[in-house]
Amino acid sequence: MMMYRSTRGSSPVSLDTALVQGLAPDGGLFVPEVLPKHTLDGWEGLEPWQVAARYLEPFFDGSQLRPSIDQIAQETFAFDLPLREFEVVEGKASVLELFHGPTAAFKDVGARFLAACLQRLQPSDAKTLTILVATSGDTGGAVAAAFHRRPGIRVVVLFPEGRVSARQQHQLTCWGDNVVALSVQGSFDDCQRLVKAAFVDDELASTFNFSSANSINIGRLLPQSAYYAYASLQHFERTGKRLSFVVPTGNLGNGLAAVLARACGMPIDQIRFVTNANRTLPDYFSTGEYRPRDSIPTLASAMDVGAPSNLERLTQVFGEAETLRTQGISVDTVDDETISTRVEQDAQRLPFVWCPHSATGMASWLRMDDETRKTKDWCLVATAHPAKFETIVEPLIGRSVEVPPALSDLLSRPTEFEMIAPTIDAFRGSLSKLSESGDG
Ligand SMILES: *Cc1c(COP(=O)(O)O)cnc(C)c1O
Repeated sequence: MMMYRSTRGSSPVSLDTALVQGLAPDGGLFVPEVLPKHTLDGWEGLEPWQVAARYLEPFFDGSQLRPSIDQIAQETFAFDLPLREFEVVEGKASVLELFHGPTAAFKDVGARFLAACLQRLQPSDAKTLTILVATSGDTGGAVAAAFHRRPGIRVVVLFPEGRVSARQQHQLTCWGDNVVALSVQGSFDDCQRLVKAAFVDDELASTFNFSSANSINIGRLLPQSAYYAYASLQHFERTGKRLSFVVPTGNLGNGLAAVLARACGMPIDQIRFVTNANRTLPDYFSTGEYRPRDSIPTLASAMDVGAPSNLERLTQVFGEAETLRTQGISVDTVDDETISTRVEQDAQRLPFVWCPHSATGMASWLRMDDETRKTKDWCLVATAHPAKFETIVEPLIGRSVEVPPALSDLLSRPTEFEMIAPTIDAFRGSLSKLSESGDG
């Protein structure tokens, strides 16, 4: 049976418990006790969901969900995962487009997987499961979309007022039914802090049956790891070479997923995390000292994180900065001016347009020394569709970006949200209205 231990040492639990609890009782994050090792045989010609089901199977060892793994993988990977090659004067690379889901960012993958799992784990007579999600923009929309109208489950989304794009805000606030949106007068880190505080608050815990859906839930990490398996296997099948990834990074869920896939035997070479001007991670890598701080707003707002929560997982499972560097893991940081330049200039020479987050990856790839850039097969991870950030992208490229159909459907719905102060008391106040109107 596969067990999941807390990064802070409390006793290991099953996958099902880890999925439902989200955060370990000691405040740590769940990680698999042992990492499965796959071989590279027999993956040829599989669809993304089939790769995911096979790759994830050992993680479900002993889980009540084990017999449903094919269905869960199908529900999760029900959209395209194109791996496209491109060439510019500086060299050749590929782009892994992770934004073809309902809310046009990669977070749809984790959210849909988690929804598929939690719904199956929820006993029919159980108290309503209340999923708390702090979002810097994309998570909340993906989680709301994935859980909307699922019976026995409600979602409370907390987002930082004025720090998400208008279209992101629309995606957070257009649901109604079992989805509640709270606009917090503070930063993303304040939202994250409120969620963590609610989990350890005795009074709230006795009223609510809480779970989390942030990148701290292991149910977000596992399916994200599966798309790295799929992309690297596809490349390996075609070329016989390992793929290296550049991952735009905030809370480090997506980057950690790549490291996890590599550790489980997938044909992955180098991994580079790229942050925006929020430098906690690059500073940690260069000094070995972890100094969390307040996040600062940038053009790549979904990466505005001053205390990347998955760093605790990364260092617990794979080692500290010095060790990570020797394992082909590097970190880079890209400022707003460079993001703007990439969005603008690459729109003139590539057959697609970057979103501000994905543009950080391109900037970092261009900045590599010639040898590193040209001797490795690099894949730039495109984390969101540019139409989600049209107020940034369109003025830079001087034309409009076509809105994908799923996104335009959402944008035609009416919205509703409540504004709260960034305090646990204010948060308690909003939650108590829910327990009065519902069944707790
Ligand atoms: C969330 C997000 C990121 C950062 O991913 P993490 O897993 O938090 O590191 C990057 N780009 C976009 C578009 C996102 O929504």
